[in-house]
Amino acid sequence: MLRKLIAGNWKMNGLRHSLDEVSSLIQKVGKDPKADILICPPALLLMEMARQTKDSPIMVGGQDCHWRECGAHTGEISAQMLADAEASHVIVGHSERRADCGESSKIVKDKAEAALAAGLVPIICVGETLEQREAGEAASVVREQVEQSLPAHPKSEIIIAYEPVWAIGTGKVASAGDIAEIHALLREQVGAAIRLLYGGSVKPGNAAEILHLDNVDGALVGGASLRAEDFYGIIKNS
Ligand code: PEP
Repeated sequence: MLRKLIAGNWKMNGLRHSLDEVSSLIQKVGKDPKADILICPPALLLMEMARQTKDSPIMVGGQDCHWRECGAHTGEISAQMLADAEASHVIVGHSERRADCGESSKIVKDKAEAALAAGLVPIICVGETLEQREAGEAASVVREQVEQSLPAHPKSEIIIAYEPVWAIGTGKVASAGDIAEIHALLREQVGAAIRLLYGGSVKPGNAAEILHLDNVDGALVGGASLRAEDFYGIIKNS
């Protein structure tokens, strides 16, 4: 069984004082937590958070990266810059970026390859919309996104996060059966070595049920990662 990863995505939330939550989390998790722990803060907080978590088991990651190493791309952040700031992971292809920034699976794949080249572990997000689920297309949409978003030579140093779009930030959680079904298909598609995270309104109260499903190797957590108490509640239940 793969060790679980509980990854927090702060999205566009958090100011410098929010780092107090991380101090509190460091205290709560101690030296030997049950799961691997990652926080992906806004880029401006990353270096400070990396410094803060240096002697703790908490890792830090980026929320996105550009597909090129450097150059004329105003406002962008490269994977190499994230690695230089001590990030270990980077989220790519989050549905908010696929929707807000029109990111295709081809772009997501290029970003994942840039992450690997910089020594980062890409967390590649996939997931269907409500419309697609209601049309009975969830499995085929996810399969196709995985086919098109994974680096050319998938290695064990990638992670896939299955995040049904309709369950993100909505309080709606996919049923255990729906999660288990998609994760079983993903396992068949990518093999045993790649960690499969579930994401979509994971909270302390539903974490145990989700995290103990077959083929669920962790969670990608948005809202409930912002407060140490909530995030620790999920880690504890992993
Ligand atoms: C996410 O942003 O990846 C996410 C799963 O958000 P939330 O936990 O808030 O639904």
